[in-house]
Amino acid sequence: MKRYKILFFIGDGLGDRPVKKLNGKTPLEYADKPNIKELLKSSIVGLMDPISPGVVPGSDTSHLAMFGLDPHKYYRGRGAFEAIGAGAKLSGGDVAFRGNFATVNNDLVVIDRRAGRKIEEADELVKELNEKIGEIDGVKVRFYHGTEHRVAVVLSGKGLSDKVSDTDPHEVNKKVLESKPLDSSPESQFTANIVNKLTKKVYEILNSSEINKKRISKGELPANIILLRGAAEFVELPQFESYTKLKAAAVSATALIKGICEQLGMKVVTPPGATGGLDTNYLGKAEAAVDLLNEYDFVFLHLKATDAASHDGNVDGKVYAIQKIDEIIGRILDKFGSELVIAISGDHTTPVELKEHTGDPVPFLLYVPYSIIADSVNDFNEKEARKGSLRIRGLDVLNILLNYSNRAEKFGA
Ligand code: ZN
Ligand code: ZN
Repeated sequence: MKRYKILFFIGDGLGDRPVKKLNGKTPLEYADKPNIKELLKSSIVGLMDPISPGVVPGSDTSHLAMFGLDPHKYYRGRGAFEAIGAGAKLSGGDVAFRGNFATVNNDLVVIDRRAGRKIEEADELVKELNEKIGEIDGVKVRFYHGTEHRVAVVLSGKGLSDKVSDTDPHEVNKKVLESKPLDSSPESQFTANIVNKLTKKVYEILNSSEINKKRISKGELPANIILLRGAAEFVELPQFESYTKLKAAAVSATALIKGICEQLGMKVVTPPGATGGLDTNYLGKAEAAVDLLNEYDFVFLHLKATDAASHDGNVDGKVYAIQKIDEIIGRILDKFGSELVIAISGDHTTPVELKEHTGDPVPFLLYVPYSIIADSVNDFNEKEARKGSLRIRGLDVLNILLNYSNRAEKFGA
């Protein structure tokens, strides 16, 4: 049996519901997708529940499932993945947080949860914090800049716990919260104390930083605090190649997704100009995937723009991003058309009118480059997918890909 290479494409938050502005069509239904439609001649189509029916997935839990790892067993919060995606090297027992540069007043009341969002000096601010803090009560503290206003904070040392509450009040006009232990262990008390000392130090350093003085003089909000959330102890994940026998690579610009892929041992590539937003370098991602497919058995291609547009309520933006997905697929087909197994789906539904993730199933397309019994659907979208033959969970994806690429191992004798 000829073994095929695999392209797995995820448009983040791809799934949607009927949109008023599109006369009741979904963005996927409305968008022009000539290349994807071409694939339908030899495709199986249907719906995927990323976790299980009705469960609202986060991007992290969903990706774990689609990579064959049950998130109920392996998920400890997104902090660790995000830190790795932002460049941290973690070891067992480290506790990582996600953070935002934000603006607070003298009473530590939050004025802007993202300090105006665009923080050109973020790298310098992180550098200043790393130089001035270093350690608290014998615990090593490291800061990493993710994208835009996002930072990751990693604690390394003995006796830490991830059972501590957020300092992020998640709303403006509220005071920065004190971190509290979430169980009665001494480790949680110890960690919460460190988080609170850390928050105070961060404020002192950032509030008197020359960088922020310059921001204020330019009429910008000072990035004078880091709001922390999502404490996560680092747990090592199994290596993708060891349980799939696939040499795998990923193309992504999103710290969270990159972190997961890196932890699974995949080669991770972020092409120049790839941003995680609508302004990303779409064809740069296609080129990167083409290059990687020459060398790797399995290439995962992630596009964040669809989810970003959904969270912003940007209907036209979501349609645009989907049309760009079609262009990416077209570019890859030009090179590998008859030689690839291709799966296209989303990691969850993010209805653009709701601006939040929901637990709706997402359309799933599996193209096979040889003769199969194809589903007779006319398009790839939420409605037509309901007429296809697949109804799977995220955890099934990898098995299906291995089977149709002729790489599956027999279960039993
Ligand atoms: Zn997502
Ligand atoms: Zn999202």
